[in-house]
Amino acid sequence: MQPIEQIYTRLDQPAKIVITTHQKPDPDAMGSSLALYHLLVRWGHQVTVISPTNWASFLDWMPGADKVLNYEITREKSEAIIMAADWLFCLDFNTPIRTKHLSPVLAKAPGSKVLIDHHQQPAVDFFQYGVSDTGKSSTCEMVYDFMVSSGKASWLDTDMAQCLYAGLIGDTGSFRFPAAGASVHRMAAHLKSVGLNHTLVHEHIYDSFLENRLRFIGHVLTNRMEVFYEFNTALIYVPKSDLLKYDIKTGDTEGLVNYPLSIQGIKMAAIVIDRDEERKWSFRSKGNVDVNTFARRFFEGGGHFNAAGGRSSASLEDTVKTFKKVLREHASEFQLT
Ligand code: 5GP
Ligand code: MN
Repeated sequence: MQPIEQIYTRLDQPAKIVITTHQKPDPDAMGSSLALYHLLVRWGHQVTVISPTNWASFLDWMPGADKVLNYEITREKSEAIIMAADWLFCLDFNTPIRTKHLSPVLAKAPGSKVLIDHHQQPAVDFFQYGVSDTGKSSTCEMVYDFMVSSGKASWLDTDMAQCLYAGLIGDTGSFRFPAAGASVHRMAAHLKSVGLNHTLVHEHIYDSFLENRLRFIGHVLTNRMEVFYEFNTALIYVPKSDLLKYDIKTGDTEGLVNYPLSIQGIKMAAIVIDRDEERKWSFRSKGNVDVNTFARRFFEGGGHFNAAGGRSSASLEDTVKTFKKVLREHASEFQLT
């Protein structure tokens, strides 16, 4: 993977560009993709954003979201666009598997692949150019850096700012996590100076749910959470029957994993959701508990040091059993005792 700086001057040549991101895009994935979309359109390119799957409806307000293709329902059209693309920007994921069924299509696409990402252990051989930096708060911060270092900072407009800010607050827990350093706050100030309405972005993302989602959270915290004080860990497991009963949609479970971390002493929180095709794990931690390694070793996943995800093809009951066994056997290695 060559440094991303090498493509700046080549981008002065109008091209066909695809931007893609990880499945079930979150605010950082969608925000960075759409901010880059607006930048590259302004640069003179023909640009299409393709999401591997659907996304939460609380992202639909983002300028440009109405033009994003959902690969799962536009396969032929998306594949034709991908095969014809000169450049394929891959945002907010470290390995092509994270794009689910899009992965083999990206693999055979002839265009140059450009990675912009902040996850650990990227599959660098898959990309011709790119930047991977785990020190960055968010991919939105990296798209902002790309804009500034390619000499296009003056193109920053309100639409880009709204998109970039969404990813910034999404991935920093609204400026709370350690990665929200001085450069992140300076970036936010720059976004404000071009007309960012930060209150509106917060409302769109955090205050746009239906009553059923809050009832669901109440139910899950009361009935589906186990706390293992001896291991400073809490687990939430969500059977399919709960998802059906409360009519839970994509995005409704986002953030649920963070609740147990507000319990005094809890250093790791895990949630497993019984999805149709797999059991999906999310892990969050505080301080020196490395959930990237935990997810990678035991749950076919990875991510960041303090926030990672994984999966299992076992039943919900069995994968929960595995979690408890792993916890008992490896808690001290992960600084949980
Ligand atoms: P979340 O729990 O919000 O789905 O994901 C937490 C972090 O881990 C995100 O940065 C996400 O991109 C990453 N992540 C989630 N699931 C997986 C996975 O299955 N594999 C890898 N490598 N990363 C994941
Ligand atoms: Mn991210």
